[in-house]
Amino acid sequence: MTNPAENSKMEEIISLAKRRGFVFQGSEIYGGLAGTWDYGPLGLALKNNIKNLWWKRFVDDREDMYGVDAAILMNQKVWQATGHVGGFADPVVECSSCKSKLRADHLLENFYKENPTIVHEAISADPSKLQGDIDSFGKEISCSKCGKKGSFSKIRQFNMMFETHVGAIQDESSISYLRPETAQGMFVNYKNIIDSFHPKLPFGMAQIGKAFRNEIAPRDFTFRAREFEQMEIEYLIKPPKGEEWKPLFEQFKDEMIAFSKDIGLDEKHIHPIEIAEADRAFYSKRTIDIEFDFPFGQKELYGLAYRTDYDLKKQGEFSGVPLDYYDEETKEKFIPHCIEPSFGLDRTVLAVLSDAYTVDEMGGEKRTYLKFNSKVAPIKIAVFPLLRNKPELVKKAREIYQTLKKEFGAVEFDDNGNIGKRYRRQDEIGTPFCLTVDFETIEENKGVTIRDRDSGKQERVAEGDLVAYIKRQL
Ligand code: ATP
Repeated sequence: MTNPAENSKMEEIISLAKRRGFVFQGSEIYGGLAGTWDYGPLGLALKNNIKNLWWKRFVDDREDMYGVDAAILMNQKVWQATGHVGGFADPVVECSSCKSKLRADHLLENFYKENPTIVHEAISADPSKLQGDIDSFGKEISCSKCGKKGSFSKIRQFNMMFETHVGAIQDESSISYLRPETAQGMFVNYKNIIDSFHPKLPFGMAQIGKAFRNEIAPRDFTFRAREFEQMEIEYLIKPPKGEEWKPLFEQFKDEMIAFSKDIGLDEKHIHPIEIAEADRAFYSKRTIDIEFDFPFGQKELYGLAYRTDYDLKKQGEFSGVPLDYYDEETKEKFIPHCIEPSFGLDRTVLAVLSDAYTVDEMGGEKRTYLKFNSKVAPIKIAVFPLLRNKPELVKKAREIYQTLKKEFGAVEFDDNGNIGKRYRRQDEIGTPFCLTVDFETIEENKGVTIRDRDSGKQERVAEGDLVAYIKRQL
């Protein structure tokens, strides 16, 4: 069971996120649409900062990456090729008491957590094995909605793709799906990249974009949503001899962890977990899940998989377009193999919020604040005139605000309420620096005070040095 303090931490984060304009329930004024979330100005800024850091590290700073932004709607054959049409399904049972539809694997997971003395194997993705395990604990497993024990239907496989029709005629041929992953948008563009850029192997394709899954039980805020964003790389290599792919796989694992630290996640909360062969997708030769200590437990944040040549082979077969690579040097033709680092963007935002959420005491008062790393902080600087009814202070503060805004973009002006309250408001949204223009600034030309969010310490900095000073700090 998740501990109650951690549950309440999650509730506090959700409430702060709503109150301060980070994340709102989707379609809220209509009572919401389960599994959808809308980002407000601060959540969007946080998300964009994370995206930009990701793109910089994995695309711009490298010479071997090609960015793609593929359409969300794709030809249905793409998903027949991958097996998603027939097989992208979750195991569902229905509680005969409250009629809730529940994930069978999650029921079993909760049951094992509540009964730590039970020795068991990993929860299987194979529905008949899962059914066997559920049957063997029969009457002991309780419904996570109503609590009633042991009265579930048999497992049914539920396809998670959102189906739609393209064009005016609705028949089998017009079926399309909202993509359940961004990966295939890259594989189907592999030939375009080859033909227009002639890259040498190894090289990667990278994409950030929306993905959609009709999750049976969306939960844990943005962790399990029905519409979410992914940041993915398909890194293509020559078919490796033996274990040649392993060092590259390790490099990506290290890069994924380095990225997590770069955006401010605590290394102690990041756990690379080796996925056993029985639990991997059948085409994967190795999978590592990078799990994170969310307030509701240790769960998957990212995935890294060596997918062999499965995707390109399948897309080649189904499209009839050969997707092999011609190696000019060796005069060989082959289908490249693929290593795929996959990042959930919404889960990253949630992890960053969770690690930044801090409660401490300052000036004898309890304070709640977001201890964002300044690279991801949605607002970098707030500028205050000490008093709002002194036009000379306001004028100077606005002047400084305009200069800093041009330089840093994410700068706020606030003249509302006493300085202590303004500090608290900025702390709550994680602004690293607050600048105050006071009488010494204008009468004695002594510069402005800059307050550090974490320590609360203030320093005076000359107006002319401000930009350089802040650049150094950021
Ligand atoms: P899970 O086991 O938690 O359902 P998954 O193994 O199906 O996740 P992948 O298919 O590997 O996930 O997707 C890659 C990444 O996309 C995940 O590591 C996660 O960060 C993100 N992701 C997947 N499903 C969701 C979802 N429903 N809501 C938000 N993010 C998601």
